[in-house]
This record gives sequence, C-alpha cells and structure tokens, in this order.
Amino acid sequence: MSDPQEDAPGTLDQFDIRGRSALVTGAASGIGLAYAECMAEAGAKVTLTDIDAAGVQREAARLNDAGYEARWASCDVTDLLEVSQAFNDHVAAYGGCDIAFANAGLDVGDGFWSPEDRRNPDGQIDVYSKAKWDKSIDINLTGVFHTVREAARVMKANEGNGYRRGGSIVITSSNAAEVNEAIVGVPYMAAKAGVKHFMRHSAYELAAFGIRVNAIAPGPFVTNIGDGWVKKNPAAKQAWDKLVPVGRMAETYQIKPLALLLASDAGSYMTGAHVMIDGGMQLGPVKPI
Ligand code: NAD
Repeated sequence: MSDPQEDAPGTLDQFDIRGRSALVTGAASGIGLAYAECMAEAGAKVTLTDIDAAGVQREAARLNDAGYEARWASCDVTDLLEVSQAFNDHVAAYGGCDIAFANAGLDVGDGFWSPEDRRNPDGQIDVYSKAKWDKSIDINLTGVFHTVREAARVMKANEGNGYRRGGSIVITSSNAAEVNEAIVGVPYMAAKAGVKHFMRHSAYELAAFGIRVNAIAPGPFVTNIGDGWVKKNPAAKQAWDKLVPVGRMAETYQIKPLALLLASDAGSYMTGAHVMIDGGMQLGPVKPI
C-alpha cells in the first residue's frame, strides 16, 4: 500500500478528459486520426486539422455521427498563419485548448531498403534533392515548431481567465530520432532528431506555465505514410513484420492508450519524455540466424 493521501485522485480518474478539448494536426489519416478518435472516445471535444481538408471533413462527420463532438479545419502546418488561425478558431469554438497533438509529417523517400541498397543513386548525400530536404524539414520540423508555438500561446492564455491552467502538448516523433533507420530518407531522420531536442527545450521552458510537452516515437505503424506503400504491398508488410522484434508492424489503435496517458492528468509528472512505441525496434532489427 502506498501512503494514504487525502486529495489524491483515483487511478482511472486521472485519465478522465471529459470537458476538455484537443486539436490534432495531420488528423485525416493514420496516427493523427487515431489520436483524434482517442480524444473523442475519452470524452474530449476535438478539432481535426489537415492539409487534406476533405479528409478531416469526412472524419469529423464520422465522429459526430457516432455521437462525439468534433470539428475540422483545413491547415497546412508549414504555414504559421494557418496554424495560428486553426488554434484561434478552436478556442473560439470550445472556449480554450487543453491538449494539442503536433503530428503532421511525412517521409519524402530515398532511403535505403537494405545494406546493399546503400549505393542507391537517389539516396546519396552528395546528390540528395535539396527540394526534398527542404520539404521534409519544413513539414516534419518547422511544422512542429509552428504547432507547439501556437499551442503554447493559447495554453498560456488559459492561465488567469478562469479556465483550467496549462495544458498538454504531444508531438509525434519517430524511432528514427534515436536510431539510424536507413529505410527513411536522410532529412526525415534529421528532422525527427531535431523534433526530439526541440521537444525537450519546449518542455523545460513551458513547465513554468503548467504546460507539459512530450513526444511519442513510433516504430513501424500501418498507415498511409509513403503513399500507403505497405497497405498496397503485402510483401513489403511481411518484410517489415520480420524486422520487428515483436513480429509485426503496429496498427494505429495501439497508439491510443499512450496518447491518452500523455494528454491527460495521468501523465501529470511526465514532461520532456521521448516515449518509444516501436515493438522493440530500438533494440535492433531481428537478424536471420
Ligand atoms: P499518414 O500519411 O497516414 O498521415 C499523415 C497525415 O498528415 C495525412 O493525413 C497528411 O495529409 C497530413 N499532412 C501531410 N503534410 C501535411 C501538412 N503540410 N500539413 C498538415 N497535414 C499534413 O502517416 P502517419 O504514419 O499517420 O504519420 C503521422 C506521423 O507519424 C508523422 O509525423 C510521421 O512522421 C509519424 N511516424 C509514423 C510512423 C509510421 O510507421 N507510420 C513511424 C514513426 C513516425
């Protein structure tokens, strides 16, 4: 038994986010859509944002039809004004913002699929496409900066206006921030490593305002990343499954409990954490005996 504490909330009560609101970027598909569903299922009001406006419109309608409270906004995370507008509209609709997921991201490609592939001409650093580099950094790193910047702005305003103090920001990083995952292109790894350290600084700074910042670092999840390559190509999925120590790629529902932990008061003592959810990929890929 732990020491009895009079005001300590019950374990499950700490996961309760009913009455709160969350904004998710990149919510039309994959991991971002799972975050949005998770927030709605747990009772929060949610704004789904994405560059794919039709996609978030469709998914928000689906959530509303299922009895949840959801709205959508078209938002390209590389455009600071659009991100700022999305947060302002969210606050106007829901009276504040408690939770933000900086999730939108993509892989521009040209990684190496095997050690032999290291001479693949498109992936070589000395000829690597500057346009692809810029695009990857813009979305995967600068897009996260824009989202955390605007989330911090509206969450700081929570203080002192009669609204709940502080908030929780959750960034989608990658196991590629920790290990040299050569399958993804080199700017993706650089961007995600940057995301990890940007998250750590933001967490340190924003702790003074009661705002927690953490990152989820997924391993291989079945989503539409890379134009849905593993969904369209069963052989690629099987090859991936064999690389993962637990024996399979993850499905997006598996990220929801971790998202709720970090978003809710259950994670009240967690900030600055880069949490791996990767089926053991950081232990090294499974090698044939
Ligand atoms: P996904 O393609 O299924 O979803 C990504 C969403 O982001 C899409 O809806 C897309 O329209 C949106 N998007 C792309 N560019 C955007 C922009 N400029 N502004 C706003 N939205 C934009 O892919 P996913 O796998 O769900 O990716 C989500 C996050 O998870 C990304 O940050 C990705 O790097 C990260 N991640 C994915 C994996 C994986 O294996 N799937 C592994 C590690 C990290």
